[in-house]
Amino acid sequence: MDQKYLSDAAHFPGGHAPRLEIPRTIDEIPDIIRRAQTLLPIGAQSSLTGGATPMGEVVLSTEKLTRILELGDRHVRVEAGVSMAALQHALATRGAWFPPVPTFTGAFAGGIVATNAAGAVTFKYGSVRRWVDALTVVLADGTTIAMRRGDARARDGWLSVEAVSGRIDVPVPTYVMPDVVKRSAGYHAEPDMDLIDLFIGSEGTLGLITTVTFRFVTPAPAIAFGFVPCVSESQALALVRELRHASIATWRNGDHDGIDAAAIEYLDRRCLQILHEDGADRKHDVIIPTGTQLALLVQLELPRTTNAAAAYNQIETALTDRTTDGALARFCRMLDAHGVLDGTELAMPDQTRRAEALIALREAVPSGVNQRVGAAQRDIDSRIAKTAADMIVPFDRFAEMLEIYRRGFTSRGLDAAIWGHVSDGNVHPNVIPHSYEDVARGRDAILEFGRDATRLGGCPLAEHGVGRNAVKQRLLRELYGDDGIEEMRRVKRALDPSWKLAPGVIFPR
Ligand SMILES: Cc1cc2nc3c(=O)[nH]c(=O)nc-3n(C[C@H](O)[C@H](O)[C@H](O)COP(=O)(O)OP(=O)(O)OC[C@H]3O[C@@H](n4cnc5c(N)ncnc54)[C@H](O)[C@@H]3O)c2cc1C
Repeated sequence: MDQKYLSDAAHFPGGHAPRLEIPRTIDEIPDIIRRAQTLLPIGAQSSLTGGATPMGEVVLSTEKLTRILELGDRHVRVEAGVSMAALQHALATRGAWFPPVPTFTGAFAGGIVATNAAGAVTFKYGSVRRWVDALTVVLADGTTIAMRRGDARARDGWLSVEAVSGRIDVPVPTYVMPDVVKRSAGYHAEPDMDLIDLFIGSEGTLGLITTVTFRFVTPAPAIAFGFVPCVSESQALALVRELRHASIATWRNGDHDGIDAAAIEYLDRRCLQILHEDGADRKHDVIIPTGTQLALLVQLELPRTTNAAAAYNQIETALTDRTTDGALARFCRMLDAHGVLDGTELAMPDQTRRAEALIALREAVPSGVNQRVGAAQRDIDSRIAKTAADMIVPFDRFAEMLEIYRRGFTSRGLDAAIWGHVSDGNVHPNVIPHSYEDVARGRDAILEFGRDATRLGGCPLAEHGVGRNAVKQRLLRELYGDDGIEEMRRVKRALDPSWKLAPGVIFPR
């Protein structure tokens, strides 16, 4: 069996499997599941939690299930193995767009639903859950069930599912989920929840997703990017706060000329250093002025007619004639008021190459960190592993949380970089380990961060899920308590009594 199927992007150690199944059609799946003693569904294996690493299960790869079954005016129905890049490409032919894609666009439809993934634009568009209208799922006993949002809701604390073996009653967990936009933290639970929401975010443990019906946006918006170097954290966060307020007002009032920032990304000083050390700034021809402490990457939606020439004209007059209106003029005036306009680089909707360069610069940060982790694992200690958090707090508490991340790393003498989706209050603090002790200290810091994130009203598991990662499983247990995990186990037992699907993912048996 090809070794590549034995690990995922988390490089979780010890992956092994007795067999690999790659069905060519969905119809083959029920039989494969019936025959297997245990089975792990996998998509693109871009999981950052070890959830897509087999630990003795038969691996079922959805990679050949790549058909787009139906592309309508508002909905698209796809097989589980369709990648986000392929989906966007198909939608682009109709001038449409699917917003909640994770930063890694190779991820598959089944994978993003199974993890309730969320991308940069969650601030405006929410996580994947909101975009799923229907699913087809094969249960552990081989039953195929089709569900459409709105068709089956919980009643008196129970959901029910019709399987070949008869009706299955599933107890709805009673824990209360944190009130934040991202929470890929175990099973979804609400008193009157929809059955479909139980499977979204269940990380392969309750059923194998074979088809998904997504909603999408049409027409696709015109998107500009602004790379904004800042001299201090307070300067950056004040700008983010104002951009968030202005954007929310634009959406609420339907203001055609309003500022519409769908995403704001954050790169701290260590991230910028990494870009410089790796030559990524030179490669992508981006100037990071001396004295820059951190940078923001703003994704701005503009009226569809905006092209570079019109845009620069608007910016120029915006600064000389303050009565000039338009989304870009307002955006530039806001940058100017915060003292960051001069250092900002803009890529307009028709400047695709510049936009790609700015996105590539952002992506060079995680890959730079991962390379350093890989090198330390190879050259220093094979026990070294990626040591990273993925937490969210309400934006009002973000500055406080950032200080907690900083203090937690500094007090332990750790080298660390922090980047992520600041518009959601969701960032990824990552340790850059120089020894195995750094990894141990980093895990300790992450557990502490999790408690603080929960205390501040956030969620210690925002978008990557829980998977097999021991620290993440512990964060989940601390979030919902032993009783909460037991409630999840009851759900699992009802739908998968022999613990066949993705055993050990999210929680131990
Ligand atoms: C560079 C990089 C950037 C990333 N950026 C983001 C980001 O911005 N936001 C984000 O949310 N995530 C991000 N991720 C994490 C990852 O891309 C997401 O978790 C993604 O949703 C996983 O999709 P996949 O197809 O790779 O699934 P896999 O990794 O193969 O599987 C993930 C989990 O889903 C289960 N699963 C997969 N397919 C199915 C199926 N058909 N039915 C049932 N269960 C299934 C698996 O058993 C496993 O538990 C990033 C990862 C990388 C490497």
